[in-house]
Amino acid sequence: MSARLDVDGDRLERLLAEVNLFGALPAGGVERLAWTEPEVDARAWLLERCGREGLEAEQDEAGNIWAWGGARPAVVMGSHLDTVPNGGSFDGALGVMAALEVLTSARSARIPNAERLAMVCFADEEGVRFSTGMTGSRAVAGTLDAVELQDAATPAGERLWDVLSEHGLDPARVLDARDRRSAIGTYLELHVEQGRRLESEDSAVGLVTSIAGLSCWHIHVHGQANHAGTTQLADRRDALLPVAAGILAARQVMQALPGLAATVGDARVVDGSGNIVPGHAQCSLDVRSTDRDDIETAVRRILDAIESSAADHGCHVSAEQAKAMAPITLDDGVLAITRMTAGTGQRLPELASMAGHDAMALAAAGVPSGMIFVRSRGGLSHCPEEYSSVSDCTLGAQHLADAALLLARELPAGH
Ligand SMILES: [Zn+2]
Repeated sequence: MSARLDVDGDRLERLLAEVNLFGALPAGGVERLAWTEPEVDARAWLLERCGREGLEAEQDEAGNIWAWGGARPAVVMGSHLDTVPNGGSFDGALGVMAALEVLTSARSARIPNAERLAMVCFADEEGVRFSTGMTGSRAVAGTLDAVELQDAATPAGERLWDVLSEHGLDPARVLDARDRRSAIGTYLELHVEQGRRLESEDSAVGLVTSIAGLSCWHIHVHGQANHAGTTQLADRRDALLPVAAGILAARQVMQALPGLAATVGDARVVDGSGNIVPGHAQCSLDVRSTDRDDIETAVRRILDAIESSAADHGCHVSAEQAKAMAPITLDDGVLAITRMTAGTGQRLPELASMAGHDAMALAAAGVPSGMIFVRSRGGLSHCPEEYSSVSDCTLGAQHLADAALLLARELPAGH
């Protein structure tokens, strides 16, 4: 048995407070969108800090920050530092800061196998700015598409390609980050749950068994814009009605398929006005489940409801899939190790993640991956109210440390 490493909760709390100065919002929470100044500064701070700790620190071709304890392959712990707009202080940041705390304290306490631990901070996990998501981890996994990378842009037309160049990266070499993949013996990610299940089970920590897949769509409905007062009922071709039908269908599908989530999170009239019958409406559709067939069924039913309503109201629909990821099961062997860290006789809750994470990209590419969740107060996330207590975060980081050191002992000898 490896000597035990005691995670220092005060130091973890200080690290979180320090990184969350980057992009801190006056009313609480943080905003560090990928490749904006606060996010770039946070990663530069991390790189510099890892170097100061005597780690082999580097930024790869995709902008991911790595810190190695020396040996490769390593047990790599990590997450991301980018956030959504008006985001929380724990999503991503907890996993990176816990990895840094475990890595540095294992080394300074000369814990056996500490050199086989490493940390990664993946770039652009949230994907909100360029409609991407897990860009850094998918580059490492070898599943990032060159065309997607070239086309990625903000709604205002700012291209990811150009932004990467402005920050000193060569966009043509982003896919070369996949060379790091062979150095990851195992990937372990500590993350806030972003849901209420651990809270309802009165448990600070849980183990993740699988990650839901998703299917995201951009939907446009075309009808006929016309005068709100003079257009009679029979003549109306209201493009917003099929969108409304889709919203209601999403809710019905969730009732019919337990464990599935279907959301129309963005719906609007294009060039709309209070005195015009909507002529063009658009909406998003986001469907998630750990069951691949359920995702397909749900998408078909919701799109059918939109199509059918469009036919009733003289409109036509175009639906384009914007993103698709298959559900994945996390590695059984890694899960078994994380179970052991709970201690004999204790059993941590095991749950599926309904949110996507960098672990998903790596697991899909065959990297043995595991995740540990920390309880989220009130299940709130992606908002300034996102909160996990210091003691819960410390306990989660302790499980991360114990599991990482056990896994490091099992790694094949590298170089
Ligand atoms: Zn996250």
